[in-house]
Amino acid sequence: MRAVVFSSEKSLELEERPEPTPGHKEILIETAAVGICGTDAHVFDGEFEGTVFPLVPGHEATGTIVALGEAVNDGVFDFHVGDHVAINPSTVCGECEFCLNGHQNLCRFWNGLGVVASDGASQQRFVAPAGNVYKLKPDTDLFEAALIEPLACAIRGWDVLPRRLGDHVLVYGAGTMGLLMAQLAPFAGAASVTIVDINEGRLQAAADVGVKLRYTNADQAERAKWDVVVDCTGNIRAIEDALTRVKPAGYFQNFGVAPADRTANYSPFRVYRDELSIVGTMAVLNSFGRAVEMFEAGAINAKAMISHSFTLDDYAEALNMFRQGTGRKLQIRPNDTQSRVLLP
Ligand SMILES: [Zn+2]
Ligand SMILES: [Zn+2]
Repeated sequence: MRAVVFSSEKSLELEERPEPTPGHKEILIETAAVGICGTDAHVFDGEFEGTVFPLVPGHEATGTIVALGEAVNDGVFDFHVGDHVAINPSTVCGECEFCLNGHQNLCRFWNGLGVVASDGASQQRFVAPAGNVYKLKPDTDLFEAALIEPLACAIRGWDVLPRRLGDHVLVYGAGTMGLLMAQLAPFAGAASVTIVDINEGRLQAAADVGVKLRYTNADQAERAKWDVVVDCTGNIRAIEDALTRVKPAGYFQNFGVAPADRTANYSPFRVYRDELSIVGTMAVLNSFGRAVEMFEAGAINAKAMISHSFTLDDYAEALNMFRQGTGRKLQIRPNDTQSRVLLP
């Protein structure tokens, strides 16, 4: 079986590995698709806290069950060989203060498959704990469904924002997360959704998923202030600009991942005087099952969001393309024999 391995910081190899065997409560999955995101680039660069090399990357995955550990179905589960599934990559200790208080996404010993110390899905087959595996309907497109993991992060993002009918929402950044936050906004009650990105190609993606108000600069927009402003860029200049666009009593969210050592300027006086709320959101918390349901109900336009697929051989090319910011969501299909352009 073939696997992409980050053998050490900034080094990548394609390896022939023995077939993984599932433990008692584990499931062996043949990978259909695995999305590439900023986290993979951070892991590769050795910038992600806690990564243990060598590591098979890949945390936004779907696939088909090929084998079950002997105890998988002893409790509430009813998995079968052949089931189509999506995988929640987060595993937690269940014992620390944050796990015990309902904030498992902030677990002090948080481990993501393909991110920290357990191998991910950029290989032909991989193993996941049964509790992290979510069954999909047989007719759900397994390639498109690789967007369920980022969708679960976006649902978590909305969980910590107000959901008030008639709010006006502004999103900075039309990459995968910006497109998902914008598409979920109407479900949270938004009367309008505006998206800002300096990249025209990304604004076209926003148009394709149905966002009507799109600008390269928020100054061009039809309003000056918004009830909810979400930064999905992690870019300091964008964040500083975004904070000035929040209405009194409004919310600002840091969704995008800014460099850990950077700071942004804002007016504490305005936060006080206008009762602004600044909120963070980190990964997935009790939102994976809802992401599966919303995805299968057609809440997002997945077809317009995935532009290229790559074989394991072309993993390095995919990572380079991601860094250049070209294309939309890029994904690896470890059992495909050729890389494909999915959108012109
Ligand atoms: Zn990701
Ligand atoms: Zn914990």
